[in-house]
Amino acid sequence: MQIGITGGAGFIGSALALRLHASGHTVSVIDAFTDYYDVELKLERARLLQQNGIEVFEGNVHEDLPTWFGSHSFAAVFHLAALPGVPGSLQEPHRYIEDDIAMTVTVLEAARTYAIPHLFFASSSSVYGEQTGALLEHQATGQVMSPYAAAKYSAETFCQAYQNLYGLQIGIFRFFTVYGPAGRPDMALYRFIEQALRGQPLTVFGDPIRDFTYIDDITRGMEQALQAQATGIFNLGANRPESVRDAAAMLGERFDVPVAFAPARAGDVSMTWSNTDAARQTFGYVPSVTLADGMERMITWHRDRL
Ligand code: NAD
Repeated sequence: MQIGITGGAGFIGSALALRLHASGHTVSVIDAFTDYYDVELKLERARLLQQNGIEVFEGNVHEDLPTWFGSHSFAAVFHLAALPGVPGSLQEPHRYIEDDIAMTVTVLEAARTYAIPHLFFASSSSVYGEQTGALLEHQATGQVMSPYAAAKYSAETFCQAYQNLYGLQIGIFRFFTVYGPAGRPDMALYRFIEQALRGQPLTVFGDPIRDFTYIDDITRGMEQALQAQATGIFNLGANRPESVRDAAAMLGERFDVPVAFAPARAGDVSMTWSNTDAARQTFGYVPSVTLADGMERMITWHRDRL
């Protein structure tokens, strides 16, 4: 199948592109190489894609979709391009409306115009707001804690509207704290491992619990959803909440660096925990990588780059 991925030089998009290409799909990614974090890391991922024979189209989803869609016959498109991150959304909420809501509407409109048979949208566990327990998809009710979460929740509802109005086939993934090699530098585990390997102290904000989900589990789930042509909303998590303080303490002990504690950051929820029954029942998703194993693979990647 010919598959398109927006944000394909990003952490999840590039890993998905490699997996789908290895499975025999023809993959094209679009990315604007935005400067939310180190652009060199995005260029590095893009070079790896190109070395594997994957097309990298440098363009902006806000403007260049007609060119990109018009020059391909995509059987499915994964829309992962976004402005991520909770803290930034408190500083610049309008940018999140632009890049997480308006950009998704642009993709939905183009999907109609170019009759894209199946669309997948990357949403977030943050749409659940401040709740406890293993959360089921219907438990997101809009009681969110940050503009980022509000933007993702709103984008989900646009997807629902386009599905209901125009019959677009849409699958929505709610990702839970994805981690792994070549990850996102703004995320806690990336930051901790970099600091630990450099002998610097680690700082934990608050006492959060996170359902850390390894990148390979996520991309396998996305491929399974593609194969099943799944529609609806699906948690893609590990179904296994872990203490961020414990993860930092483990790294602190192993690399002999101190761990400091700071107050929780505004907008961050205290706990994320997925119930993944819907994804398992619909397309066979079963996460398998433990946090210890996943962190080991991350440490190897970070160490090789020092
Ligand atoms: P990422 O920032 O690594 O990837 C996003 C990519 O989109 C970047 O390469 C960026 O350059 C690109 N991009 C941004 N605006 C663009 C535009 N206008 N045109 C073209 N490209 C553009 O993020 P990620 O961690 O890979 O996340 C992928 C998706 O999953 C995002 O929608 C994110 O909100 C969502 N998500 C991620 C996580 C996680 O734990 N990583 C959790 C929940 C949701």
